[in-house]
Amino acid sequence: MPRFLSHMPLALAQARAAALRGEVPVGAVVTDPQGRVVAAEGNRTRERSDPTAHAEILAIRAACAALGSERLPGHDLWVTLEPCPMCAAALSAARIARLYYGADDPRMGGVAHGARVFAHPQCHHRPQVYDGLSAPASRRLLQEFFAARRTVG
Ligand SMILES: [Zn+2]
Repeated sequence: MPRFLSHMPLALAQARAAALRGEVPVGAVVTDPQGRVVAAEGNRTRERSDPTAHAEILAIRAACAALGSERLPGHDLWVTLEPCPMCAAALSAARIARLYYGADDPRMGGVAHGARVFAHPQCHHRPQVYDGLSAPASRRLLQEFFAARRTVG
């Protein structure tokens, strides 16, 4: 069995890059069935004036474009924060095999909180979910980002 290799450090690097762009620091990585990174993206909602430009959506789009397919069977998605309901639905539509996420998001999350998208009977594809990977580092990034915004006003 291959050694478990976390891609959360790369997702965190994408989140940090997003913070430097003034975006809420969330980063996502898609890996193919061989475990190779095929997409790494950060949040770009402000830059693109696009409320759907979450890290997960951008990473799924990039991976699908690279593969030339609307689905990503056998692919895994790594993201620093619990996905929102929109991203959870996109993960399901893309047939992502495993979801690894960092910090919980009781306010906006849609996996373990709120809409709990994968728990619905209408959800036809449920990735395996692994939470809490690099959660303290993910949470710290978000806390620092919002604390800095408060002091700047
Ligand atoms: Zn989202």
